[in-house]
Amino acid sequence: MAKNYRAELTGCFGCPVDENPTGVMEEAAYAARDLNFRYITIKVNKEDLENAVRGARAFNMRGFNLTIPHKVAVLKYLDKLSRAAEIIGAVNTVINDKGRLTGENTDGKGFLIALERAGVSVKGKKISVLGAGGAARAICVECALAGASGIAVINRDAGRGQDLARLISGKTKAKGDFIPWSGTAAVPADTDILVNATSVGLYPKVDEKPRINYDGIGANMTVTDVIFNDPHSLFLKEAEKRGAKTINGLGMLINQGALNFKLWTGVEAPVDVMEEVLKKEFNL
Ligand code: NDP
Repeated sequence: MAKNYRAELTGCFGCPVDENPTGVMEEAAYAARDLNFRYITIKVNKEDLENAVRGARAFNMRGFNLTIPHKVAVLKYLDKLSRAAEIIGAVNTVINDKGRLTGENTDGKGFLIALERAGVSVKGKKISVLGAGGAARAICVECALAGASGIAVINRDAGRGQDLARLISGKTKAKGDFIPWSGTAAVPADTDILVNATSVGLYPKVDEKPRINYDGIGANMTVTDVIFNDPHSLFLKEAEKRGAKTINGLGMLINQGALNFKLWTGVEAPVDVMEEVLKKEFNL
């Protein structure tokens, strides 16, 4: 058979995107599985997304990730959406099947796998989520679809918070409640799993933590953070002090990357390799 010099292309479209570490993880995974795939981190300005998607089709890219500010805007350029992506209203991964682009959202699924790996199930649980942005929407919808009984959305912007709570109650079997966040927020006493899905604590502002009453965290709670850089966030340190089980944002990042790998290649991802390379990247 003739030698194939053409690699299957995948990548990430975003702006800013320079500090996005996904490429390191995916390229290491392709190499570990001996796949002729590449992952390219591409700066795509807000107004250029349509052209970028057209380019992805023209280059016969196998798929691509989307990050800020394209996760919602990309919907109108796709041919099909997964059920979760449709409910969430945002796409972080696109799969190109012979020119037909399908949008999927693996952020919340990555979060769920990270919890499962830590021995935590969301079934029948009460979940309190800080934030109502893209990450919060993905986490809330996947937790609700996976059987969480109730989800409290705690957010500063009331419109965004109410919208998410309504979405949960309207489109899933879980009950969604909105709790306005002004000043120091109280952690609902019946919380089983508390999630920081805000961007507070993200590098380089690692000395910041969400304004909540940390004494409301009990030793019976699981406390998780979407922040992966620094994975030892102040938020999680406060939870640890109160005896809670903690899960950092690295697992979510690695597992969504592993799911994307499988969607594009059809091959099971080498999760250990991906974890190892990311930890090395972050000097952990
Ligand atoms: P968005 O901009 O969509 O949402 C940000 C949310 O944070 C909003 O709800 C906003 O509240 C809230 N927020 C911001 N600052 C504050 C503050 N000072 N106090 C209280 N709330 C605040 O961002 P994303 O949802 O896309 O991303 C959020 C974080 O999740 C980022 O740090 C991102 O890196 C991380 N992430 C991690 C992933 C992983 O795999 N580990 C995957 C995806 C994202 P308001 O609505 O009131 O403005």
